Amino acid sequence: MIDIKSMTQEELGALLRQLDEPAFRSSQIFAWLHRGATSFDDMSNLPKALRRKLEESCYITVPTVERKQISRLDGTVKYLWRLRDGNCIETVLMHYHHGNTVCISSQVGCRMGCAFCASAIAGRVRDLSPSEMLDQVLFTTLDTGEDISNIVLMGIGEPLDNLNNVLRFLELVHHRDGLHIGMRHISLSTCGLVPGIDALAELRLQLTLSVSLHAPDSETRSRIMPVNRAYDVEQLFDACHRYFEKTGRRISFEYAMIDGVNDHDWQADLIARRIRGMPGHVNLIPLNDVVERPLKPSRRIAAFQKRLESHGLTATVRRSLGGDIDASCGQLRRRAMDEKGGAHENLGHH
Ligand code: SAH
Repeated sequence: MIDIKSMTQEELGALLRQLDEPAFRSSQIFAWLHRGATSFDDMSNLPKALRRKLEESCYITVPTVERKQISRLDGTVKYLWRLRDGNCIETVLMHYHHGNTVCISSQVGCRMGCAFCASAIAGRVRDLSPSEMLDQVLFTTLDTGEDISNIVLMGIGEPLDNLNNVLRFLELVHHRDGLHIGMRHISLSTCGLVPGIDALAELRLQLTLSVSLHAPDSETRSRIMPVNRAYDVEQLFDACHRYFEKTGRRISFEYAMIDGVNDHDWQADLIARRIRGMPGHVNLIPLNDVVERPLKPSRRIAAFQKRLESHGLTATVRRSLGGDIDASCGQLRRRAMDEKGGAHENLGHH
């Protein structure tokens, strides 16, 4: 069976040719899918015979709401979706003055193993398909009735560990016959997979690349982010500089402030030294306390920010949203796994 919502219009055209149907139907089908049609019978402008043929060869992904939480503090909405194969993933909708942002997952679980992160605890189960990434945007907007203006690939998973599907998702969500979200309204966050950063640079997309830095020295970074043992801080910054040269796009560095681990002034100085030569923005994140993790939030955020600014860098502190609803990605899925008796239920292990 074919995952029809993962197909581009060109691929739909080829499929229609195989089915002896006119190619112009491809844009009709694409439009239905990207409006959230859940069955071929919804597609009222298609002949019945074509709907039957499609039903025989294709399926339409439709996630169901397993849990939904709405923050009483700021209206942040968090979804735990159940996918076709029973796995669960998280999506978060946040309201900012510049518009609504949806934070989507790119994999079921994650294999990057960061020491502070809830998503990494049970490892990676599988990659998400382009349709499953698109569905998170689509069904969040349909369920809430709210428009989405920005997308961040900052949920569960490592997008550059699922690069082909992510690129296809970007093409779909950007398409004018679909949700038509501009590349400048999309951010992709990576823990630092150097070959992926280089591959992305070649495409010269106008999206914003976020790099989860969390430490500017390899000793500390290897301790909290195992990926640093494969691609160390120096290789990472070389790739960042190459990325800037190719795309002209400013990189945003994510930095979760951890007490006594990465919040020393000398580390702020080192960040500035490594970014030198390109525009960089540092986003300081108050560490979300994950119960299973021993790391604690830093009390030096303001001082660290000042230190970065003294080097001429722009540094912002991320406003924490959804504090009452496990809004740090991975935590809701994590909790649901615990309640169902560990990792044995359908939330991630197949
Ligand atoms: N794998 C990608 C995207 C998912 S994580 C990446 O690593 O960038 C999204 C962001 O949340 C990353 O910057 C990640 O390091 C950060 N993060 C994970 N756990 C966190 C926690 N407990 N507190 C604060 N930020 C966290």
